Amino acid sequence: MHRIVAPKIIPIDEHALDQSLIDKDALEVIFQLQNEGHVAYLVGGGVRDLLLGKTPKDFDISTSAKPEEIKRIFGRRCLLIGKRFRLAHLRYDKKILEVSTFRSGDLESSTLIVRDNRFGTPEEDVLRRDFTINALFYDPKTHTILDYVEGVPDIKKGILRTIGDPYVRFKQDPVRMIRLLKFLARFGFDIEQKTMRALCSCKEEILKSAPARILEELFKMLESASAERFFRVMKAHDFLDILFPCFHHFFTSPYAERGFEYLNAIDTLTAKHQNQIDRNVLFCSLIFPILECELEMLSSDRGKPISFTEIMQLSHSLLQGINSSSFAHFPKKLLAITHYILSMQFKLTPLTQRTKLSHRTLMHEDFPKAVDFLHIRSTIHPELDAQYRQIAKELEHDYS
Ligand code: ATP
Ligand code: MG
Repeated sequence: MHRIVAPKIIPIDEHALDQSLIDKDALEVIFQLQNEGHVAYLVGGGVRDLLLGKTPKDFDISTSAKPEEIKRIFGRRCLLIGKRFRLAHLRYDKKILEVSTFRSGDLESSTLIVRDNRFGTPEEDVLRRDFTINALFYDPKTHTILDYVEGVPDIKKGILRTIGDPYVRFKQDPVRMIRLLKFLARFGFDIEQKTMRALCSCKEEILKSAPARILEELFKMLESASAERFFRVMKAHDFLDILFPCFHHFFTSPYAERGFEYLNAIDTLTAKHQNQIDRNVLFCSLIFPILECELEMLSSDRGKPISFTEIMQLSHSLLQGINSSSFAHFPKKLLAITHYILSMQFKLTPLTQRTKLSHRTLMHEDFPKAVDFLHIRSTIHPELDAQYRQIAKELEHDYS
């Protein structure tokens, strides 16, 4: 159990955190809060990623300033959000910086957390966090890291360890188990023994979590460039079976590697380009290989190709089946756009001869998404590349 009150202070010459990689506005916000007499640090995933030599996606800040004080300092730039726990969102041109007041959690009680809304000290704020690697504070003024939980050695050794008793922490908030698998997939770290034992015995608790949070972690992972590894670890640790039985069925079938190939394709594209792939398109990368396999089985049973109308029906019932059997239901709009993108694939690369695409087809608001998905397919099947390039050209031409 972590009960350390004083942090280990790691000076600049003993850590490899490169301050020049920190967002300039985030630094400015921390300095402004400190100048007003508050304690303020860079926290969480940002510090972890910087220590791992990765550029963080977001820079979160924690402070002793209360929400109203943050509002007073940053004025119109600041929007206070959240009912349970008020957070400050500071709006900058293209980004939002999240500033939260130090809060306390409960390390002892194993009941599900329903309220998480008490202000606390910096130490308490550290102890309410999930894993040691996520609980570091960085003070840009002194260039020091404050480590209350041996997070820096865990990052160096590549170890995932909960703060406090893992059984308690997973029962309090089962989404932490999915977060553990996400860090496992992203960083390839080892899971510390007790944390691993708790993960195995608390699995079923995941059904007590809020479905929307599970979906958010799922989509974050599809966007993470580690989607393939995430699905492999979700499968290996039975979470795919518990949460998404249809995906589990496919990823344990003889066709599984085809599915992983699509996930690998989106990972490669995400790593290569700065632009994030649209979530509907990412979701198609999960569904399309399943649909393709079902079509193949159906047409080999029948001994003749399937019509476009039948493909549409199959795609529709496949999506319904996946959705209704999943613990977390997918938004209706996502399912509708996915159905559209999937069915368009059989127009863009039809089973029989392709006809010229109508102006109406090209102008459909989601058509570019269908073309983006064709691009993903073409990275797996290079014979589709010429087709993809031609359609992408037609699309540009029609828009200009
Ligand atoms: P990512 O890189 O995917 O954003 P992250 O660790 O930054 O990963 P966030 O959801 O941005 O994840 O959360 C920011 C920080 O809040 C985490 O680093 C962690 O300290 C804390 N945190 C997030 N979720 C939980 C949770 N379920 N329980 C306890 N602490 C959490
Ligand atoms: Mg984050």
